[in-house]
Amino acid sequence: MGKRIGFDLGATKMLCCILDEKGNILHRLKRKSVASQKAQEVYSAIVQCIEECLEEASISLAEIEGIGMGAPGVVNFHKGIVLEAPNLGFKDYPLRKQLEKTFSLPAVVDNDVNLATYAEVRKGVAKGMKHVIGLFPGTGLGSGIVLNGDLYRGSFGGAGEVGHTILELEGRLCGCGGYGHLEALVSRSAIAKDVVALAASGKAPTVLDKAGTDYRKIKSGLLKKAVDAGEKDVEKAVLRSAWFLGIGMANLVHILNPEGFVLGGGLVEKFGSYYVEAAEASMRKHALPSLVKSVRVQISAFLEDAVAVGAALLLAEELKGKEHG
Ligand SMILES: [Zn+2]
Repeated sequence: MGKRIGFDLGATKMLCCILDEKGNILHRLKRKSVASQKAQEVYSAIVQCIEECLEEASISLAEIEGIGMGAPGVVNFHKGIVLEAPNLGFKDYPLRKQLEKTFSLPAVVDNDVNLATYAEVRKGVAKGMKHVIGLFPGTGLGSGIVLNGDLYRGSFGGAGEVGHTILELEGRLCGCGGYGHLEALVSRSAIAKDVVALAASGKAPTVLDKAGTDYRKIKSGLLKKAVDAGEKDVEKAVLRSAWFLGIGMANLVHILNPEGFVLGGGLVEKFGSYYVEAAEASMRKHALPSLVKSVRVQISAFLEDAVAVGAALLLAEELKGKEHG
């Protein structure tokens, strides 16, 4: 007993981690997410990933005390239901119940970036801070809000969908079907759509060579390679994303008066301070000086593992709460 599974169910990849009681990662297994819009197929892939991870680590299910899982989209935390995760085909999907049934273990399910932000506030770069917002641009733009040291989930768990706030009236099409959303300006998919046009017109040869003109194949690592190769128009597209992220951050500064932001996700993992400093400069330019002066902007300490670490942490606290409550 004492070991926990922390699982990051991403739209692009799944990451299964086994952690000890102190939250250290004992074993991790990464798999590409299945290219399916069918919830049952996605669920089967999750189960397979967990089973493989246990097998690789030679850890039996009997040693595991529970499963924590982060899903991209709107999650009703209290009921463990994924209300909406368009990239995975989940709609009102009872993910927690399914996990509890399959593995006969307690489980918690929350929004992925809620969990990542929670990990940073409890054990990462934002440790000791009380009012923190996590923003993770990748396939989409996930976010999590911690107020007074705890996750702020709103009335049923849907708070913090910052990616779908509107920045451009009748602007670009977002993955959710809306227009002009922050996510449609900031996410890696948004940059990739710009870069496809550049590749087609000969302005992004590195991208054209590796991914052709399929925007889904243009990952953050490839964007970084193109920028490193001196492809100026690709660099402009990446900086445009950071610029808009900074505007989104300025809006949040005005609404919530946070102490700081933690940035993570694929783009931040690959571009690091180059991207984060550009976003921070834009935030400072667009926010009231008195409010933004003391705001700190930091890079996630757990990076790729943030969601899985947060999932295991939240599970541990929920289990402890039940023991005492
Ligand atoms: Zn949207």
